[in-house]
Formats: sequence, structure tokens, C-alpha cells
Amino acid sequence: MYDPKSLKAEEFIDHGEVLETLRYAEENCGNREVLDSILAKARLHKGLTHREASVLLACEDKEIVAQVEALAREIKQAYYGNRIVMFAPLYLSNYCVNGCVYCPYHYKNKHIPRKKLTQEEIAREVMALQDMGHKRLAIETGEDPVHNPIEYVLESIKTIYGVHHKHGSIRRVNVNIAATTVENYRKLKEAGIGTYILFQETYHKESYETLHPTGPKHNYAYHTEAMDRAMEGGIDDVGLGVLFGLELYKYEFAALLMHAEHLEAVHGVGPHTISVPRIKHADDIDPSAFDNGIDDDTFCKIIACIRVAVPYTGMIISTREGEEVRARALELGISQISGASRTSVGGYVEPEDESESSAQFDVSDKRTLDEVVCWLMKLGNVPSFCTACYREGRTGDRFMSLCKSMQILNCCHPNALMTLKEYLMDYASPVTRLIGEELIRKELPRIPNEKIRQFVERNLEKIEKGERDFRV
Ligand code: SAM
Repeated sequence: MYDPKSLKAEEFIDHGEVLETLRYAEENCGNREVLDSILAKARLHKGLTHREASVLLACEDKEIVAQVEALAREIKQAYYGNRIVMFAPLYLSNYCVNGCVYCPYHYKNKHIPRKKLTQEEIAREVMALQDMGHKRLAIETGEDPVHNPIEYVLESIKTIYGVHHKHGSIRRVNVNIAATTVENYRKLKEAGIGTYILFQETYHKESYETLHPTGPKHNYAYHTEAMDRAMEGGIDDVGLGVLFGLELYKYEFAALLMHAEHLEAVHGVGPHTISVPRIKHADDIDPSAFDNGIDDDTFCKIIACIRVAVPYTGMIISTREGEEVRARALELGISQISGASRTSVGGYVEPEDESESSAQFDVSDKRTLDEVVCWLMKLGNVPSFCTACYREGRTGDRFMSLCKSMQILNCCHPNALMTLKEYLMDYASPVTRLIGEELIRKELPRIPNEKIRQFVERNLEKIEKGERDFRV
């Protein structure tokens, strides 16, 4: 039944194969010979199969876990270096017809204020985001064909790209909306989106159906096959994710990797990103009502194992997580983080009182973008506002080959430095600017190609003089 090349959800995420993987992992997680051979393969930085990675995840031996974490750090550095891409979510509408039991947007929730931004309100939100320094957004909506039809999403994307406030502009709009048709994915592609993100929530079909009792999202196959339709519609950067806490994490982990393998097998390109959201408190939602919550150590171990198994993928952590966990996660493989997020509709212009909030979930990291940027640099990272790849047509397998050929230092690193410089000039506090300028000075010599290094040096001077938007 299991067939990674099949286009049927129940065949590429075959329940029997997941269970067999878990059994194999339990049986071998204490077997030194098997562990050593998996670790030896992982050291090649070419990834692991879902079965191999599941053995590492199941292993409780402290010394092995430490080795996996060290490898995750090494792989993250090799593929992504020390740069961290910044983004913010933008909630357009919380109208929703689904009944997802973990999400406050569920249609039975009568006390959450329902809001849908007008185009003028979107423009104001975008200006507020630009004034912080954001260049990359992920737009979010509930699923509601009447309130949030695809035309509304397309018009909103146009509005977002059209706002240029002072030195600001949004240069990449990623989209996190419900599973839709090939035709609608094509329209999103034509509207110039970056990544299409859709969280699976859970790969366990029976649980999925219970957790999504009503509405279009109830259809497991339609949801699980969405990325194939997105790819058919021409979107070649897709982002996977599981909402940890809903089901047993080992099940989700194996299935998530099977999904990544499926995309590689069918489309020749794996997930552009993998997100690792954990369930949070929200209006009408008590996370302790879900039995499968994971502690911080397990969460970090999952991140390290994903990094080792899928070395090329971007990994995203949101403000669902607080400073401490984010710091650990950055070390273990995260390459993109959000900053200063508001999960309420219209929340960037008018922050809401928590008691009457339209928010999707409580945010743990409440720092400003400037504080997050400064903190990242103090931890030795280069915050990046780069959006070059998709604007240069480096999407899908073209991005993957750049990543897999380790050209990051000649391409992404220079772009990170130039966009960081823009941030420092336009938005940073004096302290952040000081730290950032020093960091850029230190990082410049690390660009191996001399011509590119000189190009960057020239552009940094031009940015000082007021010019913007350079890229390799
Ligand atoms: N409505 C679209 C969908 O169904 O995919 C868009 C996604 S929704 C705006 C963004 C994501 O937030 C969901 O996919 C879900 O994983 C996550 N989410 C929902 N409720 C949450 C909660 N209580 N805590 C943390 N994350 C939550």
C-alpha cells in the first residue's frame, strides 16, 4: 500500500508504514550498530529516511542525543550559515467555517470578535510592519468562501506589494490559507507569492477527522494532497508543518518526513520550509485539553532530528515560543523566525486587549523587532531581510540546488548583510545599529568570492547614501 510516488494521501502517508516505522524505531533505538550506521550516514549531510530519522528520535541515550544535536548544528551551519531570515504574520480575516477544535476561529466560537480587514486597513497594517523594518510577510486567513474568497486574498496581495512607505516595501508575501484548488493555486502563483504554507495539523487520519469535525477542512485527503495541487498550479516553494500537541509526536515526525520524501519523489523538490508550531492557549482553547503536548527538550530534539533528516529545508519557528526555547532552537536548525508578531486581525495598527482579542493564539515572544534583531546578533547570528531568491527566480529545485551546492556564503550571506544594513540605516535603535555595523564588518571577509565581496562593499556604501534594494 505504501507508495511515496502515489498522489493519494493514504498511500504516501500510509498509516501501516508509519506504524511499522515506529515499531522499527523502538526495536533499534538501543542498537549501537544501527545507531552508528545512521549517524555515519547523517554525517554526510545528505539527509536520512523517515525510518532512520525515527530511530534517532526514539533514542534516549544522552550521548547519542548530544551527537544528533551537534550534527544538527553542523548541518545548519553548512547549509544556512549563521543567517536567520526574519518575517511577520499578517492576519487578514478570522472568519472561518471550519470546526477545528484546537483553533479559536472555529465557527461555533461566538465570543471571539470576527474581523476582516478592508484594503485600506491592510495598507495601514503594512505601513506599520514596514515601519518596524519587515520585508517579508506570511498572510493568514480563516477558511470562509463568502468572507475570504480567493479574490479577496489576491486583491490583498496586490495591496501589500503596492505599499511603499518611506524606505519600506514588502518584497515577499508568503501565504498560509486553507487547502484550495489547482486553479486557485495558479492564481496565487500569478499574484507573485513566495511560499505556500499549509500545516497538516496531524497526519493521523482518524485523529484528523475528529479534530476537524465539520467544514471543508474535515476532508483529510483534500488537505493532505494540497501541496501536490499547489505544485501542479506552479507554486514550487511549499511549506509543511505539524501542530505539535494534537497527536503522538513520533507518529507526526515519521509522517512529516514521508510527506517531504513524497514531494521529492513526485515533484523532484522537497519542502521549501518546515514549521514546528506547538499548540497554545487561545480564546476558547485550553491546550491542556490535548493529551499529546511535548516538553521543551522533546521539542528541541524533534527540531534537531528534522534538521539532520532534511538538511536543505528552511525551518521556521514562530512567536508561539518564548525567548529561551527560540535560542535553543536556533542552534539546532531553525533558519527563519518571526518577530514582533500580532496574531489578531488589525493588531499592528491597533493592539488589542487580550480579553476581547480576535487573536489566533497567545504570543510568547512579545519583544519588538529591534529587540529580536539585537538579540539575534548578540547570539552570533546575522538577521536577514533578504527576499532575493524568489525575485531572481531561484525557486523550487533552483533554490534547492543553490542550497545543496553550498553556495550560501556567496549568495545568501551577501544578501543578508546588505538587507541588514538597510535595516540598520532605516529602523534600528542606536545600540542595535552599533552592534550591527560591527557585525557586518566582521562578516564581510567571510564572503569567499572576491568580486562578490567588492560588489557588496560598494553597495553598502550606496545604502549609506540612501539607495536601497541590492541583491546578488
Ligand atoms: N485557515 C488556514 C488553514 O486552515 O490552514 C490557515 C491557517 S491558520 C490561520 C494558521 C495555523 O495556526 C493553523 O494551521 C494551525 O496549525 C495553527 N493554530 C491554530 N490554532 C492554534 C493554537 N491554539 N495554538 C497554536 N497554533 C494554532
